[in-house]
Amino acid sequence: MDILVVGSGVAGPAVAHFLTRQGHDVTVVERAPSLRSGGYKVDVRGAAATVLHRMGVYDQAKAADTGMRRITYVNRHGKGFAELPADLIMGRRDDDLEVMRGDLGRILHDAAGAAFVFGDAIAELHDGPDAVDVTFAGGRTGRYDLVVAADGLHSATRRLAFGEQPLAHLGGYISIFTMPNTLGIDHEEVMFSEPGRLTFAYARGPAEPMHVGMIFAGPAGHERRDGKRLVADAFAGGGWRTGEFLSAMEGADDFYFDSLSQVEAPRWSSGRVVLLGDAAHCPAPSSGQGTSLALVGAYVLADSLASHPVPEAFAAYEERMRPYVAKNMEFGRKMVKDMVPGGRLAIAFRNYGMRTLKFHPKKEQVIEKVLAPLREAANAVTL
Ligand SMILES: Cc1cc2nc3c(=O)[nH]c(=O)nc-3n(C[C@H](O)[C@H](O)[C@H](O)COP(=O)(O)OP(=O)(O)OC[C@H]3O[C@@H](n4cnc5c(N)ncnc54)[C@H](O)[C@@H]3O)c2cc1C
Repeated sequence: MDILVVGSGVAGPAVAHFLTRQGHDVTVVERAPSLRSGGYKVDVRGAAATVLHRMGVYDQAKAADTGMRRITYVNRHGKGFAELPADLIMGRRDDDLEVMRGDLGRILHDAAGAAFVFGDAIAELHDGPDAVDVTFAGGRTGRYDLVVAADGLHSATRRLAFGEQPLAHLGGYISIFTMPNTLGIDHEEVMFSEPGRLTFAYARGPAEPMHVGMIFAGPAGHERRDGKRLVADAFAGGGWRTGEFLSAMEGADDFYFDSLSQVEAPRWSSGRVVLLGDAAHCPAPSSGQGTSLALVGAYVLADSLASHPVPEAFAAYEERMRPYVAKNMEFGRKMVKDMVPGGRLAIAFRNYGMRTLKFHPKKEQVIEKVLAPLREAANAVTL
């Protein structure tokens, strides 16, 4: 088949890899002018690590693991008040990995074996009985047997094919950008909370760039194109190194901004168009499971297409994925709720927990209990 994949994030190049391997002609169209390098650390957990093995890129991804050693919580003067070793807090098991999103995107892209078109997007889509006719923003046209929408949380393909944007706002926004490592941190994450605002930073060495994340609470309706202004307004007057981070953000060329929203699409296919990754079921940026869901979805979709004709393949894909996705969406809601800081009292309570955790005689069991639902969700699918 001639297959068009829209979006070269995580889901797009991963599905392109499996479909190309099955002998299909796959084109990936990405709106950005080149591969997007931005983003923070993302987790590849449970079944998703198996997908990397089956793609033959696990060792490459493991070599790019962030190697995080510890998390330090600081107060508004930058003084650390709690330091937790990463192996305690992360609860990693077996083949789980943590990779910078840009590194993972590059590894998947290089392994895809498909044709990539950067700097273009779908403008029109006509889903006919025999094929999908596509007009691109750049003016080209194309005819495809299938279109895979892997264009993320705000999928334009989903809007064109389904006419709906099933987004549920979870009460906040996230921005990520890269700047010089002025903190001098080395395989360490530093976190700072104020009411309604959370700032975190990570670097893989004192000479490596620093990745900064800023999350703030806010109602639905903010426009992504206003991202830098919204972050600057939300963090004005913040403690720790907030002013310095905001100045660096202004010049950042890999700035990423989005709402903390979930996608709950009632159906994942319409005719010859199928939704994949965040476009189908975004559990919210920063929920910790979006990347794993995208990888697993890519594998299951390609596997279903290998054993069923369309539209049965899409039904099989959805049937296998739905229970796994539901578990991870539930965990995603909880993670996001925990990440968006509440008022002073809630922060003080959490800081106390962080400060005292390492002295807790049963700290391993405490963490185990918190992470058990995540581990269950990460493995709730058979590949
Ligand atoms: C630059 C960037 C940084 C991110 N950083 C983080 C992070 O730090 N933490 C986190 O939890 N999640 C982050 N995410 C989201 C995370 O990557 C996804 O939740 C997850 O990996 C699922 O991947 P996906 O491939 O479905 O979607 P995404 O990774 O969002 O990829 C979608 C791709 O589609 C492209 N695209 C969008 N619209 C169109 C269009 N109309 N035509 C063609 N292409 C289009 C986008 O440019 C993007 O490359 C980031 C996403 C991006 C794009």
